[in-house]
Amino acid sequence: MSQREYHIVVLGSGGVGKSCLTAQFVQNVWIESYDPTIEDSYRKAIMVDGRQVILEILDTAGTEQFSEELYMKTGQGFLLVFSITSMTSLHELAELRDQIIRIKDDMRVPIVLVGNKSDLEEDRAVSRARAFAVSQSWGGCPYYETSARRRANVDEVFTDLCRQIILKDMKDAQ
Ligand code: GDP
Ligand code: MG
Repeated sequence: MSQREYHIVVLGSGGVGKSCLTAQFVQNVWIESYDPTIEDSYRKAIMVDGRQVILEILDTAGTEQFSEELYMKTGQGFLLVFSITSMTSLHELAELRDQIIRIKDDMRVPIVLVGNKSDLEEDRAVSRARAFAVSQSWGGCPYYETSARRRANVDEVFTDLCRQIILKDMKDAQ
């Protein structure tokens, strides 16, 4: 059986923890301070429902419009990350999602909404209910709260996104 390879793009405002989440997922390390301008891609093989898949993960850093369009075209699944300590970071995702749907010309793009920094409960500015309501308004995409710092729910968000890509592939093939 051929090995499947999927392109995942991690998007969200600066400082929400995209690089820390990616590093935890790919390398199992907590990096306290990551260069905010570094945009890089990483590969990791994981098992999803008994099948090995290769993920090619692009950790974005808010670059120019040109490359944004390009990776939105190449991306098959998107992690839209905000910080539960910042309402603005949640609001900024709406425009990104609109852009993805416009560029891919597909309402059913696999997306997972991620509220990161769940360890900072005392600084919470976005309630679970609020974020969940947003995910529902986005066609019922999954919503997870993660902590890159504590490595909580990190594997889950990538695996769920991967599962959605596989499901969509199967539906499109029908
Ligand atoms: P990016 O700009 O979205 O890539 O954000 P980074 O991954 O560089 O993280 C920005 C800052 O948030 C850094 O100071 C991290 O240490 C911090 N950070 C990232 N994830 C978490 C988390 O889950 N919990 C806490 N407490 N801090 C985090
Ligand atoms: Mg970063």
